[in-house]
Amino acid sequence: MLIKCEDLSFEYEGRQVLSGLTFHVDEGDFLCVVGENGSGKSTLVKALLGLKKPQRGSIEFGDGLKPTQIGYLPQRTEAQSDFPASVREVVLSGCRSRAPFHTRAEKTRCADNMKLMGIDSLASRSFRELSGGQQQRVLLARALCGTERLLLLDEPTAGLDPIVTRELYSVIDALHEKGITVIMVTHDVVEALEKATHMLHLHDNHNFFGPTGDYLECDDCRRFSGGEHRHD
Ligand code: ADP
Repeated sequence: MLIKCEDLSFEYEGRQVLSGLTFHVDEGDFLCVVGENGSGKSTLVKALLGLKKPQRGSIEFGDGLKPTQIGYLPQRTEAQSDFPASVREVVLSGCRSRAPFHTRAEKTRCADNMKLMGIDSLASRSFRELSGGQQQRVLLARALCGTERLLLLDEPTAGLDPIVTRELYSVIDALHEKGITVIMVTHDVVEALEKATHMLHLHDNHNFFGPTGDYLECDDCRRFSGGEHRHD
């Protein structure tokens, strides 16, 4: 088991967010985290990254995984899109050592990941001048520099047009097929149901966690998610 979360709850200024949240992630899983705005998705992301302590419960990492080995793709923000650096610099910044102390192995890894994401020809371009879809590929290559095992993707396709969204999803699928475990926060329930091996649906105190097949059998889940039309 890569991650085991048990009976988690969090608090902001005395107000409880999420409660009794229990789920796990195994090697090779594709877990999609869905839920309305304010349901606690970002809080969970922060907790997995070690940036928010649970008020109750535990998060355990297994199979030799360390929290620092999670490749993280943050939500897109304007400030981030305007980052004044080259594509190569952004990708390299996902490696453990800091510039200018990157090892030869890290530079090779950076080059490999840029190739994998189809952005090697953009290496010297300025990150801020790229399209949204290209920027997401750069940030995915960056996240891959931090991991070979687990990607944590926070709404990777938010704000992208449908064609670019498809392209990015197929890149993510390819990474999963390569054996990388994926946790993806998304609003796109329809897409989530197509790719996820497991679903985590945050909804007040009625969280659902289980295999995608069970989620489709769960009437309440489908009603909350608006995914009813997929189940005919
Ligand atoms: P989501 O990502 O699903 O939209 P969040 O984890 O951002 O949900 O938020 C869950 C709840 O916690 C919301 O009610 C939100 O207002 C509250 N919350 C999140 N961050 C903070 C914070 N820094 N201070 C106070 N309340 C917060």
